[in-house]
Amino acid sequence: MQWPEFSTKSWRTCGKRPHSGYYWLAYSWENLLPSCIGCNRPDSSGAQRVGKWNRFPVSGKHASRPAEIADEQPLLLNPLRDDPAQHLEFDPESGRIIGTTERGRMTILVLNLNREGLKEKRRDIYESVRLRSQEAIGAGDRGDFKTVDRHLEFLLQHKSGQAEYAMAGRPAVGRSKETIRYMLQRLG
Ligand SMILES: [Zn+2]
Repeated sequence: MQWPEFSTKSWRTCGKRPHSGYYWLAYSWENLLPSCIGCNRPDSSGAQRVGKWNRFPVSGKHASRPAEIADEQPLLLNPLRDDPAQHLEFDPESGRIIGTTERGRMTILVLNLNREGLKEKRRDIYESVRLRSQEAIGAGDRGDFKTVDRHLEFLLQHKSGQAEYAMAGRPAVGRSKETIRYMLQRLG
């Protein structure tokens, strides 16, 4: 995969004329996304320059006018428009996120999604969700629905994707989906 260079070597020189920048999107709400520093800030300390910063890798050409934006094919996933599960997979063994599509792989590359700290955090989340899932199942078997109830909120937050690192937590709940469904029915 071609590494997306920083702005001066990418979209600014994409096409024949120098790119004027996405000036018409600067104040567009749909174009603004919250981000943590780790994903956004440019960092050249490693082997590869990482961080979103002002990079907009695309497949084909960058749009240089508002009319062209509909045909532009961004390679970074938009969390509001794209379903990450269609492009990314979590590996519980390594804690890594794996791209299953070109866009998934590019997003991992640019945001450095397997950077130090994230893999460990994801593994911890996976393990704690797995343990609490087991506890909930055990409690359900004993008829201790007060304990089940205490775990359910946490588990459902991962299942629904609301919890932080839910991509790592969700598969740990998924393994006991049938039991969770059963317990939910029991709880009414
Ligand atoms: Zn981030």
